[in-house]
Amino acid sequence: MIERSAVRHAYVHVPFCARRCSYCDFAIAVRRDVPVDDFIAAIERELTVRALSTPLPLETLYFGGGTPSRLGGEGLARLVQAVAARLPLTGNAEVTVEANPEDVTPEVATCWAEAGVNRVSLGVQSFDERVLDWMHRGHGADAPRAAVTALRDAGIANISVDLIYALPEGLGRNWSDDITRALALNPDHLSCYGLTVEPATPLGRWVERGETAPPGEEHYESDFLETHERLTSAGFSHYEVSNYALPGRESRHNSSYWRGVPYLGIGPSAHGFDGRVRRWNVREFAAWARQLDDGADPIGGSESLTQEQLAIEAAYLGLRAQTGLKLQWADVSLVASWVREGWATVAHETLRLTPMGWLRLDALVAALTDHRSRY
Ligand code: SF4
Repeated sequence: MIERSAVRHAYVHVPFCARRCSYCDFAIAVRRDVPVDDFIAAIERELTVRALSTPLPLETLYFGGGTPSRLGGEGLARLVQAVAARLPLTGNAEVTVEANPEDVTPEVATCWAEAGVNRVSLGVQSFDERVLDWMHRGHGADAPRAAVTALRDAGIANISVDLIYALPEGLGRNWSDDITRALALNPDHLSCYGLTVEPATPLGRWVERGETAPPGEEHYESDFLETHERLTSAGFSHYEVSNYALPGRESRHNSSYWRGVPYLGIGPSAHGFDGRVRRWNVREFAAWARQLDDGADPIGGSESLTQEQLAIEAAYLGLRAQTGLKLQWADVSLVASWVREGWATVAHETLRLTPMGWLRLDALVAALTDHRSRY
C-alpha cells in the first residue's frame, strides 16, 4: 500500500452540462443554472470528510467533467482556490481545465489565468456545423478560434483540442478537413477519440432503432491512421493511443494515470487509486451531495487489485503509451511475430506498439498477459 502522502496528482469531477451530447454516457448533471456555491461547498466538505490534505504539494490538478467551464470565470477560479487551499501545488504544477468553446470569453479566461489555470483542454469535436448539431454540441464552427484567442491573450499558452473521428458514414463528415482546421488553431496537444456507441445515450437509441448505422471497422482504422500520419507530419508525437503532443506538451496529469502512480479523485463519480486499491465516489451529483450533507464519505465502491490484476493493468497502461513495457524473457517468441507483422517494435528491452498495433491493443494485451501466465 502506498501512503497517501505519495499522491502527487488530483482529479476533480465537475458534473454540470447544458445538455447531453448525443454520444455521451459520462456521469453528468444537466443544469441550465449551475449551483456554483453549493458545488464548491460540497467539494470543500469532501476534502474535510475524507481528511484530504497533503503535506506534499501536487504536481498536477485536473478539473474534468462534465463541463468545468460551466462554473464560469469567477466560479471556477474559486473552486481552484478552494482545492489548492487543502492540496497545495508545486510552483510549476500543471493545472488543467476542460472547457467547451462557447463558455470561454476574454473575461472568463482572465479569471482562470489569475487563479493559476495554465492548461485548457477544449472540447471541439468537429468544425462542421451539421456534425456539431448532430452531436448536440452547444458551439458553432467559429467558437474554437475565439476561445483559443481569448485563452492565449489571457496568458494560458498550453492548449489541447479534443476531436472525435469515425462518425457514421451517413453524416458525410470530412475528417481531413477537421484535422486541417484543428491544426490551424496551433494547439500544443490534441486528443482524438474514435466514436463509441454506448447503449444509454441518444446515439445508442438511434442505432438500436435502425435510424443510424454505426461506423464500420475499416472507417475507424482509416481515420485513426490518417490522424497519425497528419499529426506526426505536423511535428506532434503520438505518445498515447489517443493523444498527440508537441515536444514538452504531453499531459503530465494523464501521463500519471498511464504510469500507474497514485492519484486522488474528488467529486461525483471520481475515481482514485493508491497503488493497490481503487475507490470511486457515488455517481450521481445529488446523491454525492446528500452524503456529504450528512457528513459521510461519498464512497460508491472500492476494489483491491490482486498481483495478477496489477500486472494486467501495467501491461495495458504500458502498451497504450509510448513509454512501452519492459520485455520479459517469456515474451520473446510472441513479440517476434508482432514485430514481423509491423504491430510492435523492441528497443532497449522495451516493447512498444506501433499505430497498427494500437488498432489491436485489447487483443495484444490479452495475448501477452495470457502468454505470461503460462510461464
Ligand atoms: S459536454 Fe462533455 S460531458 Fe457534457 S454531455 Fe457533452 S460530451 Fe458529455
